[in-house]
Amino acid sequence: MTRRLLALTLLAVASATAQRTYTVRMAQGVVRMPAEELTVAALAGEHGAFQRDASLRAMAVAIRTFARAHSGRHAREGFDFCNTTHCQVLRPQRITSRHRRAALATAHEILWWRGKPALAYYHRHCGGMTESAAKVWPGTVAPYLAEKADSYCGREAWSAELPGRTVEVVERSPGGHVRWMLDDGQRMTGDAFRYLIGRESGLNLIRSTRFTMRTEPGRLIFEGNGSGHGVGLCQVGAEKRARAGHDYRTILAAYFPGTTLGVTSEGLAWQRLETARLEVWTTRPALDQVLIGQAEKLLPEAERRAGVPFVARPGLRLYPTAASFEASQGTTGLHLAPRESFTAPLALESAVLRELLRGVVESNAHPETPQWFRDGVVNYLVDPRTVPGMVTLSRRFGRKRVLSWVKLGLPSEAYAGNPAGQSHPGRNTHQQRQ
Ligand SMILES: [Zn+2]
Ligand SMILES: [Zn+2]
Repeated sequence: MTRRLLALTLLAVASATAQRTYTVRMAQGVVRMPAEELTVAALAGEHGAFQRDASLRAMAVAIRTFARAHSGRHAREGFDFCNTTHCQVLRPQRITSRHRRAALATAHEILWWRGKPALAYYHRHCGGMTESAAKVWPGTVAPYLAEKADSYCGREAWSAELPGRTVEVVERSPGGHVRWMLDDGQRMTGDAFRYLIGRESGLNLIRSTRFTMRTEPGRLIFEGNGSGHGVGLCQVGAEKRARAGHDYRTILAAYFPGTTLGVTSEGLAWQRLETARLEVWTTRPALDQVLIGQAEKLLPEAERRAGVPFVARPGLRLYPTAASFEASQGTTGLHLAPRESFTAPLALESAVLRELLRGVVESNAHPETPQWFRDGVVNYLVDPRTVPGMVTLSRRFGRKRVLSWVKLGLPSEAYAGNPAGQSHPGRNTHQQRQ
C-alpha cells in the first residue's frame, strides 16, 4: 500500500469537523489559515510594539475581531485578506511562544456590538486623541469608535514638507483631526490625503490627520502628532496602559467603549479552573461540572489505552456554543462541544474519551510523525474496528510497536508492502521478512 493510500484509509474515518479558516494572499500564493493561526501570525507582524502581556492580549482580540468582521474583503480577487497594512501584516516566521500564549489566553474571544463582530480598528499612535470611524470612512456605523482623548500615549510629533502644492483645510474635528480638505482644489478626507501623499512619494510623510500647516515660499510645512488613522485601539496607548497595570479587558473597554468582549455575543468570558489533573477553561463553571468530572475520571483510561502518560498537564476548553466550538478546530489544546449537544446515551462520555486520547497522542507525538498517522492511532484507540489499516499494521508489527511510532516517528517499513491486500494478515514481522 502506498503512503498516500494508507493515509487516505486512516483519514476516511477521522472525524471531519468544520473550522473557521481564512484565505490570505502571501508571498508564496493564496494560503488557507485557521483563525487562531492568523491571529498569531498577525501578532508577530506587530513585532516590537508590545512588551507587556496585557497589551499583546488586547491586540490579539483586536486582530481576531478585525478578521471576523472583514473576511471576504478581497473576495473579488479570490481571497479574504492581503498581507499588507491594508488588511493585516502576517509574519509567520516571527511567531514566538509569547504570541502563542497571548492568543491562547484570549482564544476565540472577540469584541461584539449588537450581536455582531465589532469593527476593531487599530493604529500605531493616536497622538492623544482617537478619531471617529464615521468621519474617516463616511458611512461607517460604529458609535463605539468616536473621537476621544487618550491620556496615556503622549505626543509623537512629526513634520514634513511638500513643495508646490495648494492645500486647504475645510473641516477640522474638535480634537484637531483634519476631516475634509482641498488638495489642489480636489475635495477629499484627511485620511485619503495621507494615503495619496504616501502613494505619490512612496514615503509615510503625512503620518496622521492631526496636523497643522503653514506656507513658506515655494513649500508647505506640515506639523503633526501621532501615526496612523487614529481609529480604535492606539498601540502605544495600549502598551502604556498595560505598563500602568491595566488588564486586556480594561484596555479594550477604553478603546472600544460599549462593545462586549466574549466568545459569544452574550459576552461569556473564560474562567480557568484547576482540577486534580486538568486545567479547565469554561464560560459556565456550574453547568460544565458534569463534563469536568467525566474528563477527570476518563483521563487515566486514555493514558492506559495509549500506553503513555500525558507529557504536560492537559488544558481542556469547554465551549458554550456549537459555533465557538467549531471555530476552535485546528487549534492546539483539547476542546469539547457544549454539553447540550450530546443527546444520545454515552455520547458525552465517548466524546470526552476521544478528546483525551487525541490529547495524549498529540502530547507524546514526535514532530515528524505525520498527522494522518496520529489521527489513525486516535481512532484506533477509540475503536479498532473503525480503522482496518491500523489493525493490519498492529497484527504485522505488534500493537505496542505501532503505538510507539507516535513517539519515535514512523519507520519506513510502516509504509512498505501492502498490508491491506495481504492474504495472511496474521503473519508476523519475522515471517514477513523471510
Ligand atoms: Zn487587503
Ligand atoms: Zn493614543
